[in-house]
Amino acid sequence: MSEATTGTRTRRHDHRVWTSGICWLYCRQTGPVLWLGSVAAAGLETGIYGCEMCIAELEHMVRVAVTERDSRNGYAPTG
Ligand SMILES: [Zn+2]
Repeated sequence: MSEATTGTRTRRHDHRVWTSGICWLYCRQTGPVLWLGSVAAAGLETGIYGCEMCIAELEHMVRVAVTERDSRNGYAPTG
């Protein structure tokens, strides 16, 4: 339930394909990264990638945002 347990679990055994490259999220470091989706900016489109730690932070932010959105809409979080 704590932040420490959600941010540190390993993701190497899931079905997603990790590659080596620059993290496009918060740390901007080079290492194992996962394709997250496409982004369009300045008239161009490219894929964006994130490292394990930054993806964990992004997923936390998504959970918070969805929980807040659902609570505003009257849905109870299902965990
Ligand atoms: Zn990162």
